[in-house]
Order: sequence, then structure tokens, then C-alpha cells
Amino acid sequence: MSQPRDLQHEFYDMLMESQYWLPETMRAYQRSQLAQLLRHARANVPFYEKRLDPVFTASGDIDWDRWEELPIVTRHDMSAHRDEMLAREMPKGHGAAGTISSSGSTGRPIQITSNRLTVLAANANRWRAHRWHDLDWSATYTARAGSDERANYPDGLVRGPWGPPWDPSARLGRVIELHSNASMEQNIEFLQRTASRYYSTGPKTLHVMALEVERRGLDLKLHYVLAHGGHADDQDKAACLRVFGARTLEHYSSKEAGQIAYPCPTGNGMHINAESVLVEIVDADGRAVPRGESGRVIVTPFVSTAQPLIRYDQGDIARFGSPCQCGRHLQTIAAVEGRSIAIFTHPDGRRIATMLSEKARSALQATFWQIAQVGPLEFEIRYVPQSPQATADEAVAIAMFRDSFFSDAQVRFVRVRDIPLTAAGKFIEYINEWSSIEAGT
Ligand SMILES: [Zn+2]
Repeated sequence: MSQPRDLQHEFYDMLMESQYWLPETMRAYQRSQLAQLLRHARANVPFYEKRLDPVFTASGDIDWDRWEELPIVTRHDMSAHRDEMLAREMPKGHGAAGTISSSGSTGRPIQITSNRLTVLAANANRWRAHRWHDLDWSATYTARAGSDERANYPDGLVRGPWGPPWDPSARLGRVIELHSNASMEQNIEFLQRTASRYYSTGPKTLHVMALEVERRGLDLKLHYVLAHGGHADDQDKAACLRVFGARTLEHYSSKEAGQIAYPCPTGNGMHINAESVLVEIVDADGRAVPRGESGRVIVTPFVSTAQPLIRYDQGDIARFGSPCQCGRHLQTIAAVEGRSIAIFTHPDGRRIATMLSEKARSALQATFWQIAQVGPLEFEIRYVPQSPQATADEAVAIAMFRDSFFSDAQVRFVRVRDIPLTAAGKFIEYINEWSSIEAGT
């Protein structure tokens, strides 16, 4: 079985070069990938049989100027049309399919079917980002994840190397999975005992753990923390740097689209993995927003052939950044402003998805918060005070809220000890509890 490994290695080597390709070279590459995906989907996936007609000319060529006429695939489509979205035939060499579930932060779980090439692309993109940040593949990496009983504290589950198999130093490394039910104290002890240099978990868990290590005056140094399953804000990152001496490597990914972007080691933005996924940022009508403006993130992963996703809206709001000065031509995302962010609604029909300014958090002297729509025009800001003595300037926070959302919004505040995680272990900052009541779900 040397074939898969070689393909993996080849793709990784390509990525190390293609990051410097000129934009027009990358566009040509993307179009050749997209053309294969579109032809495959049209021929083998019932859901796409007619849907792709706008871009196909009478002679069977692809008219790229009409790309934005392709209807956007929604999360709802994923559950409502699950069977029609699966390929009846697979392109040669794309490998056997496997299915995973995504709980999402709201709504019902969806299923996504992937294939061997999606795994291969995800690995290569991850390893490229590791190289950007000079991660040491020979070190120990603790991944707090999952519910496999073999990963229980105190031993965890040793999974072996986490770098590329062809790299000699990577053979010395090991990743250890630690069950997500291990307590904060157990996590800290585990990282110290295993001399882990890397640790991955959710950004809020990282933040809470940093505060705990600091409070107890412990010594726990890490090279990098790898945040996933939520957005690491500036305060989360600052806490990890201050306490662990660790930079934060936050990747932007989804189960549907794979690895989407990784932070540049020198610039401010996240470089898109443009060899693996087409990322668009569009307005309500599915048209590209003007440069620098925020919009919905629409993804088309090239090698997801078992269940093609062509112009899929995964529910994030983001904006593109300016070209990076680091020498890589991969387009950047300046900020993912909302990860599955909630849409707040007004009785007059307005719908707004944005984030409340961090200045409001400062005004409240809050660490964590959750902002919920709880009625037609009623909102609740639940927050954890920085200390029991913290005094909140609610008037300032209300003014900012009304400025960002609705000028006639009614806002009330609830001080809480902590923000509960969802059953799936996710931390939700924005939630519309009113629309789910209206919809009767
Ligand atoms: Zn860069």
C-alpha cells in the first residue's frame, strides 16, 4: 500500500510550492479542480443534476462568468436531501467513503460523507501550517478530545506520531488523546507529567485553564496551543501567551469543508488553503461583497466527491484581508467574525448577524459572555464578571448593543458564574432562543 502514502507526500510537496504561485496560476489550478468536481457532480449526484445548468454551455464547457448564479447549498439541504447529495459513482482513486456527524452549534446534527482524498488534503494542509509555525513534530502533543474510554485519565490513549510519516524526526513524536471528561486539574497534571509541548482543545477551555494555572502559581510552559471548535478571541490568546508562553494556532475548518485557513506566521490574516477549497464571501443574494466587507462564507471543497458541496453556506460571517506581505500569494481572511453566529431578528423583518464590540465587554468588566435574543425585541447579556468586585457600566454596553443591532432593543443583564457548554462541548456566544421558539423546534 505505498500508493496512498506517495500521493500524500506529493500533495504536501505541491502545497509547499503552490503557496507562492501567482494569483492567476492559482485561479487556473482552482478552475481545473472545480471543472472536474462539477462534471462529476452533474453526472453522478442527483441533487446536482439540474442545479449546475447555469454554468454549463450547450457544448458542455463551463462559463465561469455565471458561477454566482449557482444556488447556494444550505445546512438544511444537508438533512433534507441527504440521499440525493451522495454520489452514485466515485471518480477513480478517490477512495472509500466514510460518514461523520456534525452537531453544529445550533440545530439538528447533519451527516457528511467524505473519502480518502479529503483526509489526504486535510493532513497536507495541517502539516504545511505546522511548518509555517515551526512546530516540532518530535515532541509530545496532548489532544483533549472525544469520549473514547481508552483515553481516560490518568493514562490517556497514545496514538503515535502526528507529523508526516516520511519525516525522520516526526517518528519520535506522539500524540496522546485525553478524554474530554478529565478535570481541569487532571489536564494540567497530565501535560506536566507527559512533558507535552502542544495541547489542543477549545479556546475557552484554554483560557480557563490558563487562569487556573496562574492562580495556583504552577509552571506549565507550552510551545503552541491549538485551538479548535470555536473562536479564540484576543483575550483567550493573551492569557495563553502570558501563562504558558504559548502562541495560539487557531485553524479555520469545518467538518463539511475540511481545513479552510491557517494563520500566517508573520502577517495578521489567515491564509486560505486555496489548493483544496474555493472560499467566497457573499451578500444575501449570493454575490461577492466588495473587498474588505463582511459577508457569508461560501465554500466548495474540491476533493469532496462522495458528497459534493458546491457553494455551501456553513453559517459563518467573515471578510477577506489584504494581500499578505510574507511572500505567500494565498488569499487571506482578515477575520472570522462569527462562527455559526446567530441571526438576531427585529419584528419589522430586519435580520442582523454581527458581533458586539469588545469595548462592551470591557465596559461590563466581563470575561466570558453569552448574548441571547429571548423575545421579539428582548435580549439578554449573560456574563461572567472579572472579579466579584467588578462594576459594570451597563448603560455603555446597552448603547453599544443598540448601535450594533437594533436601536429600540431592550437589553437586560445577568451576572453568572460561568457560561455552560452545550452537550457537544461547544461554547456559544450568540444564540437566538426566540426564533427557535417561534419555529417550534
Ligand atoms: Zn502571510
